[in-house]
Amino acid sequence: MRYHFERYSTPTEWAIKEITYSRALLSERNMSELYRSFNQYLRETFGERVYRVPLDAGFTCPNRDGFKTFGGCTFCDERGSGAPTIKNALSIKSQMSSGMARIRKRFKAGKFIAYFQAFTNTYAPEGVLKELYDTAIEPQDVVGLAIGTRPDCLDDNILDLIKTYDEKLFTFLEIGVQSVHNRTLEAINRGHTAEEFFDAVGRAQKRGLKLATHLIFGLPGESEADMIETVKQVVPLGLTAIKIHQLCIYKGTPMEEDYRAGRLQTMKEDDYVRLVADALELLPPDMVIMRLVAEGSQDEVIAPDWAFEKERVMKKIENELNRRGTKQGSRYIKKEAEPHQSFRQSLPVQP
Ligand code: SF4
Repeated sequence: MRYHFERYSTPTEWAIKEITYSRALLSERNMSELYRSFNQYLRETFGERVYRVPLDAGFTCPNRDGFKTFGGCTFCDERGSGAPTIKNALSIKSQMSSGMARIRKRFKAGKFIAYFQAFTNTYAPEGVLKELYDTAIEPQDVVGLAIGTRPDCLDDNILDLIKTYDEKLFTFLEIGVQSVHNRTLEAINRGHTAEEFFDAVGRAQKRGLKLATHLIFGLPGESEADMIETVKQVVPLGLTAIKIHQLCIYKGTPMEEDYRAGRLQTMKEDDYVRLVADALELLPPDMVIMRLVAEGSQDEVIAPDWAFEKERVMKKIENELNRRGTKQGSRYIKKEAEPHQSFRQSLPVQP
């Protein structure tokens, strides 16, 4: 998965992001009693703050190069397709050393996770993946490997490869799905089904991998009930972590056209805040929350404008939970994960 709001095109952008990040750390302290953050989880695991180094290995995506479809998910920034290839990108070795140096200088960081974040980071032959992952975890002080991908790029051989890393260091696999409703996945040209997601999760879990997923609230045609249904279907899976964020309209995407033509709207801030609070209450209390609000830069994002004020929105989520007197897990009901097949049967499919 490519998450453009965490991309640093220029040193200035990097600096701005780091300032925002420092402020976010302050607000994280206020939120720590309301939900279990990823930073908290890393501190519990390593006894100190650990920093992710975002990497772009020059991957593309089967949803862009025609293997599945062309054009990508309709929310995905077109500039992704022009990303450097492995040949002309900064090498992984260089990205790791410059990223670690920058973070070390800014935060006096001591431990790092190599984070394969851009595009689909398992979309290559195993030999290529192994070389990239090995290079990334080579530097001293790298204590973890995180890999973001999509469910249809995780065959058993690749999961077996990832398991070899899990056996030697902290390894985290992020499998994006965004919604469990097939009609939505079709509408956003996702190029895979919910069934493929559940299948990939099941096979990864058989190998004991630590897993996260990504959800987007506000996708076209979805009601609040649809979004909450996605949360409810993810809950019993027993994932380690989750990222939730609002739909953002990026410049140059098919969604930009729909948005400008009035065919698509983004969520209102207050509705999003309420919905995220609802979702947090339903999630298991020990699930790790990796993100609750997407942060956009004005250069890249058209809407919603509240994406430019992530801290303020985070504060509103905190206030909403405090107002309700609830927190993550307040309405969690422990259920055994159901067999994969029953998810298939319950998924609403486009007639
Ligand atoms: S899966 Fe979708 S969002 Fe992720 S890189 Fe491919 S087109 Fe972009």
